Amino acid sequence: MNQFRIVLLGPPGSGKSVTTAMLCQKHELIHISTGNIFKEEVRHRTDLGKKIEDTIAAGDLVSDEIVNEVVFQKIASSEKGFILDGYPRTLQQAESLDLWLEKRGEPLTDIISLSVPEEILIKRIAGRLTCTECGFSSKQSEYDEGDLCPRCSNPLIVRDDDKIDILKHRFVNYRKKTAPLKEYYRNLLKIVDGTDTVEEVVEKVEEVL
Ligand code: AMP
Repeated sequence: MNQFRIVLLGPPGSGKSVTTAMLCQKHELIHISTGNIFKEEVRHRTDLGKKIEDTIAAGDLVSDEIVNEVVFQKIASSEKGFILDGYPRTLQQAESLDLWLEKRGEPLTDIISLSVPEEILIKRIAGRLTCTECGFSSKQSEYDEGDLCPRCSNPLIVRDDDKIDILKHRFVNYRKKTAPLKEYYRNLLKIVDGTDTVEEVVEKVEEVL
């Protein structure tokens, strides 16, 4: 699978990150998560991090120019195939990506969209605790805020952008700006039910690739 160039679409909480992580590990693909890249920049107080932290905390989208540059650099720095998780999120990003990949003679091979009803998404995210360091996320019922991450022993917290008002704003952004990409990608798009366990979702994605 290492010449696959995949986009994984889906609303917040649909399981894009965990599904992508598992697929990339199994098939030796590069996992490119713009959300994780940006959160790392914020955590490490880099120039980019300082520039985008308010945008992220408000649940708004980082500018297309910044996101495109970060993604193109990541893709260019590896020979392997990749899965894009959380990118593109706007039509402008999708068009820029297509153009840039076409120039390299390496167009996208597959677009997967994880489908999960909004009431399930809200339940998933509202109960989510995330590690301040490694990005691990769990359900609130399994841990309390402040407990230590089972992977790296740093504290688990509720992400600012997982708080309910911000979350609603992220859904509005998704519906307005990202969901229309399904139409843009209609020729390559495969829709996968994202309500099952991660292992089952991964299997279903593998079947349609
Ligand atoms: P995520 O964890 O994927 O929800 O990303 C966290 C935040 O990073 C988002 O709420 C946005 O502020 C920003 N972000 C991530 N990916 C993108 C993107 N493709 N375009 C614009 N902003 C993004």
